[in-house]
Amino acid sequence: MSLRIDSETGMEALGGRLATVLEGGEIIYLQGELGAGKTTLVRGLLRGLGHGDKVKSPTYTLVEQYDLASKHIYHFDLYRLNDPEELEDMGIRDYCEANSVCLFEWPERASGVVPPADLIISIAHAGSARDVEIRARTETGQSLLATIT
Ligand code: ADP
Ligand code: MG
Repeated sequence: MSLRIDSETGMEALGGRLATVLEGGEIIYLQGELGAGKTTLVRGLLRGLGHGDKVKSPTYTLVEQYDLASKHIYHFDLYRLNDPEELEDMGIRDYCEANSVCLFEWPERASGVVPPADLIISIAHAGSARDVEIRARTETGQSLLATIT
């Protein structure tokens, strides 16, 4: 599915729509260059799940954890990851389980270590707007996609 989103608010709203269909256990990749709007989408998703505080970019910490009413959300940003093994040492495999949702910015920095995606969201600049492409990679992803479109 492709869509053009022309504002930060619109990007947050897409995250909000995604929030309503998450059940736990999903793995979502966010692709696109710096400033594409990946963190903006995650902020909308977290707000949709009731998170009222700030959403920090986990560029330096690699991951931010949000323990919300219904589930745990792990927001990864692997831009500064030096070695995929760092992620293994962090226990990546224990993060993404049934009751949590894992969101990855820059998953390609640790391919082979990051668990496979259910949904891949790619964001590209289109003038001052953004083109967003959402692809499902699993049945779980397909039903997410069907519900948000
Ligand atoms: P990333 O995490 O991909 O590096 P951020 O979400 O941190 O990007 O920043 C994206 C920037 O682009 C922010 O300044 C935000 O306001 C803006 N932005 C996000 N989505 C859109 C959009 N659909 N149209 C225009 N500007 C957007
Ligand atoms: Mg970001």
